[in-house]
Amino acid sequence: MQESSVGLRSRGEFREGFLREDLLAPEQAVLLFLARASLGPPGSERVPLDAAGGRILAEDAIAGEDYPPHARATMDGFAVASGAGRAARAIAGEILMGQAPPAPLRPEQALRIPTGGVLPDGADAVVPLEDAALGDGTIAPRGEVRAGEYVTQRAEDIRAGEVVLRAGRRIGGPELGVLATLGVTEVPVFARPRFGIISTGDELVAADRPLEIGRVRDSNRHALAGALRALGCEALHFPPAGDAPESLRPILQAALAACDGVIVSGGSSVGARDFTPRVVAELGEPGPIVHGLRVKPGKPTMLAAVGSKPVLGLPGSPASSLMILEAVARPILAACTGERGARPVALEATARAPFAGRPGWTTFVPARLWADGARLAAEPLELRSAHTSLLARAAGFVTLGEANHRVEAGARVAVTSFCSGGAPVEALP
Ligand code: AMP
Ligand code: MG
Repeated sequence: MQESSVGLRSRGEFREGFLREDLLAPEQAVLLFLARASLGPPGSERVPLDAAGGRILAEDAIAGEDYPPHARATMDGFAVASGAGRAARAIAGEILMGQAPPAPLRPEQALRIPTGGVLPDGADAVVPLEDAALGDGTIAPRGEVRAGEYVTQRAEDIRAGEVVLRAGRRIGGPELGVLATLGVTEVPVFARPRFGIISTGDELVAADRPLEIGRVRDSNRHALAGALRALGCEALHFPPAGDAPESLRPILQAALAACDGVIVSGGSSVGARDFTPRVVAELGEPGPIVHGLRVKPGKPTMLAAVGSKPVLGLPGSPASSLMILEAVARPILAACTGERGARPVALEATARAPFAGRPGWTTFVPARLWADGARLAAEPLELRSAHTSLLARAAGFVTLGEANHRVEAGARVAVTSFCSGGAPVEALP
């Protein structure tokens, strides 16, 4: 229960204020979360090859047979036996595409062969057309003929019994090509985890409502849903909750009943109106595991679980909530989707201005990318957590460490791309 939650000012009590020394660095927090929150393995289903793109392979793809099953030519030319050297050979016929060779080859013969044609027994090399001197019904190689030349050997591409793709692999173009080659047309994939999204705050109105004074359009639920979907999860919207535990409790219960995990936006800090951790703690073990991260932005983050279902409490500030999902929660989402070894794309660029973090904290600085001639230049954007447009103006973010909290102008920085790609790179004006 709440006693085991790291980051609270005192045990068993939700009080005002985080103490820095109680807060975990984000990597530690995620490791602790994954260790304590025994998340269940994702379910799986079979989908047709054409629907498998973007999904996560649920079983190892193992080759049932050698590929190619026969040696094949890699050039248009003549199938020959290399042992006959540079001697002229009689052209004994032609191998046709997609067909077995007409007959085995004798050393004094050559057979015309197209690129991809099956090598006949007795042949171990191909003399390309451009290297063949044509006579009257004969060909002679212009140079040495080496065994294996211009040939793809049987099983050179894929060996029978080989694990070509491991379970947990995200399926894209190359993977689809392999699956089709193996003859897999019903692909075992992990079911997309369903995440319920709940936003909290008395000030929130739906995106289609007018903005009366003091009101805020509920943008977080859409921003978070977009990022979740880009990361391979399903996002389901649940009604917004007001700033009271009685309001959040039934919505959170409904979301937990219907989904594999829940994201709660807002109310995750330690103020009087921040009851998300308390409500989560009431709903079941293990409850909040981490509350408060040593990061900027996004300190008031809660990593919790109810049963085997993760419940992530994100700050209400739009830039903070999305940044935490992108920069901290991805390994947790990967554990839910079944994806293994995924890493966000990082682009190296030259800092146009200093990137400055807070000493002793992990700082995520949103960055714009510019094309500066043939190179990329990264521009730090001022962190304004309350702005909804901030991350839309950025291509990604630069992570500054607790000790390496500053990057000077002119130095190289790695900009981690947002999962949906981020703002496009434009030419420097
Ligand atoms: P909170 O973490 O609940 O204290 O919220 C911090 C700030 O983020 C407040 O200014 C909220 O108005 C704003 N905010 C909270 N939830 C949302 C949301 N769903 N969409 C847009 N802004 C929000
Ligand atoms: Mg709030």
